[in-house]
Amino acid sequence: MDVAELLDNARRNEALLRRLQTFELQLLSCQRWFDLLTLLLEGLPEQFDLEAIGLKICDPDGSLKQAILQSLDLDQAVLVNQIEFHSRVPMVPVTTISPPPPWQSGLALPLLRNDVYLGQLRLYSSHSGRFLTGMATDFMQHLAAVIAACFVMVKQTEEQARLALTDPLTGVDNRRGFERAYEREWARGQRQYHVFSIILIDIDHFKQINDVHGHATGDRALQALCRTLKQVMRPTDQVGRLGGEEFVLLLPGCQPEQLMQVAERVRTAIAECPIVNDQEQALAMTASGSFLSITPRPNQYLPLSQVLEFLDVYLYRAKHAGRNRFLGVESETA
Ligand code: GH3
Ligand code: MG
Ligand code: MG
Repeated sequence: MDVAELLDNARRNEALLRRLQTFELQLLSCQRWFDLLTLLLEGLPEQFDLEAIGLKICDPDGSLKQAILQSLDLDQAVLVNQIEFHSRVPMVPVTTISPPPPWQSGLALPLLRNDVYLGQLRLYSSHSGRFLTGMATDFMQHLAAVIAACFVMVKQTEEQARLALTDPLTGVDNRRGFERAYEREWARGQRQYHVFSIILIDIDHFKQINDVHGHATGDRALQALCRTLKQVMRPTDQVGRLGGEEFVLLLPGCQPEQLMQVAERVRTAIAECPIVNDQEQALAMTASGSFLSITPRPNQYLPLSQVLEFLDVYLYRAKHAGRNRFLGVESETA
């Protein structure tokens, strides 16, 4: 190798090192799954002249995919389709791989953090000479170690954020969590002229269940109610516990014409929800509710508190009309 070639090599390495450092700083600033995954799936190929990357993630019980999905807005969820989640990912050292067509060369890097194997990052290039056996890969190995560390950091940050927004008894959103979901849905609705619906639910005579059967039975009833709600709702719908025995549902895309039917399905499911006291005796439980649909308009925002005020009026009417019924908010109010 002559001096010119050596210099050229050194310059190339220095440029790569600089890109690597910039990319690592970007990685380290990621707090959310959306930011980290977008940076990996879009930024990594772009900044390192790769045609594509592959992410194979270990997810033995599917909970990681679920957690990532929950952290993403509905229109960001497609990101997850670009990642492979497996119950087991074979552990490989840094190794060249034969890439899927049309790519010509590939490199697999293990994502390891404190001896915990997270999965594999695969780099694909259309140049057959880009990744060759025996080639120095220490830059890329270093990058994989930083990616693995950031992956664990984002996982922990997201988990803490999720816990702060979750009701510990039932596992559904707490009021803050639901407000967050409502705000996101409002913003999405404005972007896409998308309708969504809200149902407010309050268990009938819940104080009696507590008084007669004890607080533990009451707690189990609240948990059973949430399980039932999740069963009758779509995966993209959201359940929130506003406090006590009051719940609220967010139904993206649910049209006003469908809403009465959906509310009736929810009411029936609650009335049929299996609840037992400490002696394993079945108990009856019903709920009353109210519902409305919203089509967000540009430059308009209706805070959740205001929506709940409308819904409260109709919930109160449902209680007075004999309970175990759901009433629709008349459109002139909303
Ligand atoms: P109504 O049909 O008018 O809604 O009557 P209600 O008895 O359901 O309403 P009220 O507001 O009088 O009672 C709500 C009860 O919910 C009182 C409270 O002890 C109970 N409650 C609130 N939070 C919890 C909880 O976390 N666990 C249990 N077991 N009970 C709770
Ligand atoms: Mg009640
Ligand atoms: Mg109440």
